[in-house]
Formats: sequence, structure tokens, C-alpha cells
Amino acid sequence: MFYYAYLSCLKNYEFVYTKNIFEHCERVQGGRVIKVIFEGEVSPRKASSVTLIETSEHCILVDTSSKEVEDVIVAELAEIGLSVEDIDAVINTHLHPDHTGNNDLFRKATVYASPNECVEKYDGRLVYPDRYAKFTFTPVKEFEDEEIQVMNTPGHTWGSISVVYGNCIIVGDAAPTKKNLLEDLIPECVDYLAAKGSLKRIKMLGKNVVTGHEGIIHAHELQSSLQESCF
Ligand SMILES: [Zn+2]
Repeated sequence: MFYYAYLSCLKNYEFVYTKNIFEHCERVQGGRVIKVIFEGEVSPRKASSVTLIETSEHCILVDTSSKEVEDVIVAELAEIGLSVEDIDAVINTHLHPDHTGNNDLFRKATVYASPNECVEKYDGRLVYPDRYAKFTFTPVKEFEDEEIQVMNTPGHTWGSISVVYGNCIIVGDAAPTKKNLLEDLIPECVDYLAAKGSLKRIKMLGKNVVTGHEGIIHAHELQSSLQESCF
């Protein structure tokens, strides 16, 4: 099978953008792919980014955005010769509807998320809020792929996770926009200190970051902001 990608080996990742990809890409046989197939929007549509990762074991989507952008996702997958049936794993960074809206499209995929998503602190106790009852998912710790690491990045929600692949990290709403990372702006959260800590850990990794709703911020852009950081 051929993949459209800039990259051909595990140590040399590049992000492959949806926009203009076919003007710049080359076909690489057996190359691994990470591609942001939708960069996300805060407005007018509240829709998360969607990232495709093809490892040697899996064809993964990290987040599925909101229902309003279903056609865009299907079309972008088709552009690289994939159908919804080819996706065998969906990892949700968290369970908000603008990140899970198209989970149902991927009928052959196992959907993974953190069970901590279903936990909420209330009056000093842990409770399981009803609003998450509709979600069925497999605990993300059961996802096995040597090329992928999952990092807990709580704060925006209790069970927010980030997905690490090579020199990239996909963080969902631990950093919904570039400004969150560049200006140490804590996102909307259930736990301020946890969100602050997660943002710091993401920055310190020194990787390219796929934000929740504003595409990619590159490691070198973060580097200078880290030097100025008041964390
Ligand atoms: Zn969210």
C-alpha cells in the first residue's frame, strides 16, 4: 500500500497538512503517516481537530470532531485512499461532543478513552455523571501499540489524555488554541492546577503540538515561549 507522506522513517516525522498537501507530497512506500485531516475550529463551528496516525499496527484517529464536519472528515480520508472502514482505533482525548461527534462513523474501530472522564468530584466525593452514560468505550490503558504513548493531561476534564507519536503530541483541549501554549493561558477547566500542570508538561516535552481547535504549533515556536514562561 502507498501512503501520501513527507516521512519515510520512524525517526523523521513531519506533520502533513491537509491544506495543499497534494502540491507538496510524495508517495512513500511503507512510510508511517501522521496527518491532521481537520485542523479544528473554535468558531463558527465548535469542532475539534482530527488527526490520523498510521502505525505499523493500527490506523488511528485521534478525536472525531463534531457532526457538522462529518463530510470534511470523510472527504479528507478519501483523498488519501482511506474509508471510514479502514480506521481500527479511535482515541478520544476527552468525551466532549465536539471531539466525539463522529465516533459512530467508524464502525470497525475500537473507541478508547480514559475512564476518568466519567468521574466528577462533587462535594469531596467522586461521582459518575449521567451525561457520560451514553458513551461506550474501552479504557485507553488497553490500547496496545509500541509506537504510541498516551499521557494523562487532566484539568480541562478529569480524564483528558494526550497521544504521543514520534515528535508529535495531540493534546485535545489541554490546549485548545495556540495562545494557550504561547501565553500560558489555562483553558476552561474543572481543575485549574491540574490544567496548569498539564499545559506545562506538554510544553516541556519539546514536541510539535496538535491543539484541540487550532491546528499545529511547532516545537521551535514553543521553545521561545518556554524561555519567557512564568510557570
Ligand atoms: Zn473539551
